[in-house]
Amino acid sequence: MILDCAIIGGGPAGLTAGLYTTRGGLENVVMFEKGMPGGQIMNSSEIENYPGATGEISGMDLMMTWPEQCQRFGLVHEMVNVTRVTKKDDTFTIHKEDGSISEAHSVIIGTGSSPRRAGFRGEDGFFGKGVSTCATCDGFFYKGKEVAVVGGGDTALEEALYLAKICSKVYIIHRRDTFRSAPNTIERVKKVENIELVLDSVSDEVYGDSTGVLGIRVKNKNDEIRDIVVPGVFTFVGNDVNNETLIQEDGTFLCDMNEQGQVIVDISMATSLDGLYATGDMRISAPKQVVSAAGDGAVAALQAIAYVDELLN
Ligand code: FAD
Ligand code: NAP
Repeated sequence: MILDCAIIGGGPAGLTAGLYTTRGGLENVVMFEKGMPGGQIMNSSEIENYPGATGEISGMDLMMTWPEQCQRFGLVHEMVNVTRVTKKDDTFTIHKEDGSISEAHSVIIGTGSSPRRAGFRGEDGFFGKGVSTCATCDGFFYKGKEVAVVGGGDTALEEALYLAKICSKVYIIHRRDTFRSAPNTIERVKKVENIELVLDSVSDEVYGDSTGVLGIRVKNKNDEIRDIVVPGVFTFVGNDVNNETLIQEDGTFLCDMNEQGQVIVDISMATSLDGLYATGDMRISAPKQVVSAAGDGAVAALQAIAYVDELLN
């Protein structure tokens, strides 16, 4: 059986595409998501800018009901890692890590992005042993202790605010003296007594022993070294686009991409390849928000419905 639509990725973009394609009349729609549906927002301890989501709500709270809502309209979730998407004539092939394949008339891809490594010494060696990219997952291990946060964007500052409620002190280590974050968030951070800003400072090395991390050494713009003694270091230095599934056997991409590896789409989320739509954080000019990822999923789904209708009738 050839699917009407294959959705790759089950974050806000993929789930919304799933809702709109199934509810909009496509018959066989499968969402290929390698983990639990919900996407990267599941790692966020708070979300305050999704319309209607008021009060103290975590990313997990927000996403909890989305998969069930889609499944009611017939969306099927196949929990598998997609390794490659190819197209021959009018049919797409979804290649999966378990060796199996699925075929589809249209594809909506929303594989999002992944946390980037900051690149200081010891980061890889102590990853999972004191170095983390998820405050919601690992913050509790440092209850009542001091931790360091590396980065100066929205994620770093919001997660520092979360950690400051659990930990005795949070050092925010940032390489510049201004932040790449919403002004409201910066103001909130500045008001928290147990957050110390360590600005104009580059992380040099995380050090420790067999028990885990013992501290992080940072260097400021005058080349002065400061030793910050903490058992936990959280890095939030941005994300890389997950575009691997679009790489073909000969190393080229299935559709046009920009230099940052983001998928080039038009206002309808259509890529340069007929029947392929790209959504959410992985597309060009993405605002990287849950609400916009969801919006992309809806737009792409409506286009996919029209495309499949024309292809088959
Ligand atoms: P993602 O959410 O990244 O979902 C992609 C999905 O694809 C994942 O579930 C992944 O498992 C799956 N996948 C990837 N590759 C494959 C593959 N090969 N095969 C199968 N499945 C695959 N946005 C806001 O609007 N407000 C906030 O407050 C906010 N806070 C944030 C806090 C944090 C800590 C982070 C990290 C992000 C935050 N964001 C916030 C940004 C928001 O989470 C993203 O913009 C949004 O999740 C993007 O949705 P997406 O569907 O494009 O991708
Ligand atoms: P980001 O905005 O790209 O910020 C990354 C931060 O890490 C920057 O401050 C950057 O410094 C720093 N950095 C990058 N590489 C580094 C390195 N090697 N060593 C040390 N520091 C490094 O990433 P993000 O904060 O994860 O946010 C990603 C996107 O999601 C953004 O568009 C953001 O707005 C969005 N988001 C939104 C919300 C929200 O709306 N509430 C919450 C979270 C995320 P420089 O500033 O010097 O470049």
